[in-house]
Amino acid sequence: MSDRSSEEELLEFLYACPVGLIECDSSGAIAMMNPHAMQHLLPLAGPRDPGNLFAALEHHAPELRSIVAAYAPATGRICDGHRIFVDLAARRRTTTPKVLACTLVKLGPDRLMATLSDISEQVAQEARLRQADTWFATLLDSVSHYAALTITPSGEIQSADACFARQTGHAAVDVIGRHLAEIGGSEPSGGDLRLDEQLLIAAREGWHLQEGWQQRADGERYWCQRLVVARSERGEPRASGFSVILRDVPRRGEAAEDMRRLLNHDHLTGAANRRHFGEVLKREQRHWRELRQSLSLIVLDLDHFKAVNDTHGHPVGDTLLRRVTDVCTALLPPCGIFARLGGEEFGVLLPRYDEDQAAALAEAMRAAIAGIAVDTPRGGLHVTASLGCATLNETDGSIDALLALADDRLYAAKHAGRNRVRSRETATA
Ligand code: GH3
Ligand code: MG
Ligand code: MG
Repeated sequence: MSDRSSEEELLEFLYACPVGLIECDSSGAIAMMNPHAMQHLLPLAGPRDPGNLFAALEHHAPELRSIVAAYAPATGRICDGHRIFVDLAARRRTTTPKVLACTLVKLGPDRLMATLSDISEQVAQEARLRQADTWFATLLDSVSHYAALTITPSGEIQSADACFARQTGHAAVDVIGRHLAEIGGSEPSGGDLRLDEQLLIAAREGWHLQEGWQQRADGERYWCQRLVVARSERGEPRASGFSVILRDVPRRGEAAEDMRRLLNHDHLTGAANRRHFGEVLKREQRHWRELRQSLSLIVLDLDHFKAVNDTHGHPVGDTLLRRVTDVCTALLPPCGIFARLGGEEFGVLLPRYDEDQAAALAEAMRAAIAGIAVDTPRGGLHVTASLGCATLNETDGSIDALLALADDRLYAAKHAGRNRVRSRETATA
C-alpha cells in the first residue's frame, strides 16, 4: 500500500469516525480535529478561542487544564471518560441534558490526543435507573408513611398533607409560609446537602434524594428520606416550585448509621477512612463546579512519630493517634470530614471554607495536638504535627492537584522545622 493511499485512508477514517478526535499541544492549541469534534466544540466555545481545546471548554470544564498540567508521566492516559455537563440549566427535564465524555491521552511532551463523545443518553439512563431503584426500594420496604409537601422555588412551604402533621407533629396551618429548612432540619453533617443545595440540584436534574436525621415538633429524632422533585410549567425551563416527600423510615436509622460507620470509618481511631474521604472529595468537586461552592483541604502528618513508637511502643502510638483524632474532630464544623489517610497522616475536608478559614482551623488543630499529653511510665508524652492547606479554587477544580498542593505545603512545614501550618499565605514564608 502506498503512503498516499494510507494517508487517504486515515483522513477518511478521521472524517467518518463517530467520535470527536482532537490533536493539540500541551497548551491546548489544536493542530487537527475531525468534523465530529468540531460539531461538539464550536457551540461550547462561544466567544472563546475555538482553536484552543482548553479555552473552548473553559466554561464547561475549567478543570481540564489543570488535570493535564498535573499529569507528570511522559506519556499515557491523562483521564478516561471525564464527564463534561454541557447544558445544565437550559433544556432540563423535557429533553436529555447533554453530557460529553472526554478522554485525554498524552502522546509526547507537547502532544495530546483528545476524544469527545456524546454520552447524554447513557447518563440519562443511569439517572433513570437510580430513580427506579429508589422507588422500588421504597415499595419493597413496606413503608407506610409518606408526608407530601409543596414548596416555592426558595423553599417556603405552600401546602402540607395530613400525613405531614402525623409524621412531624407540626399542624399544616402552622407551617404554611415557613421555610422548610426551619422545620425539623438540623445542620447537615458529613457532607450531606443543605436544603438550598438540594433544591439547586433538583432544579437542574429533576430530583434529589437524601436521607438523615430529622426532628419532630416534640424534639424526637427520626430517620427520614427526603425526596425533592422539581415542578415546572409546560414549556418553562425554570422550576416553578418543588414537591417534597418525607418518608419516615423506622428502624432504618440505627442500622443505616451502623452500616455507614462500618463502611466509612477507620477502626483504630474512628476517623473517616480514605475511601469515604475520596468519595466526599469527588462529590464536593462537583459542588465546586456546579454550585461554585468553595472547598478547602488540610493534610496533617504527625512529626517524628516513628520515634514515639520506637521509644514508647506501638500501643502508646495507637493511643496518641486516637487522641489526635479526638481533639481534631472536636474542632471540626458539622459539614467537615476528618479522615485518616494512612498511618499517621490525616486529611480534613472543609466544604464552604475559604483559605483563611481553613488556615485558622489548621492552626487551632496544630495547637490542640501540641497540647495533648499522654501519661506513660516514662512521664508525659507530647506530639506535634505539620499541616498543609489548599483550596480547590487554587487548582481550578483538580482533585489531584489539590492533594499535591496541600502535600507540598505539608512538606514545606516539615522542612521549616515541623509543628507548623503552611497555607497559600505562608507557603513561601
Ligand atoms: P516525620 O516528622 O518526617 O513525618 O517523621 P515520622 O517519623 O513521623 O515519619 P515516618 O513516615 O518515617 O514514620 C511514620 C511512622 O508512623 C512509622 C510507623 O511506625 C508509624 N505508624 C504508622 N501507622 C501506625 C499505627 O497504626 N499505629 C502506630 N502506633 N504507629 C503507626
Ligand atoms: Mg510523620
Ligand atoms: Mg507520614
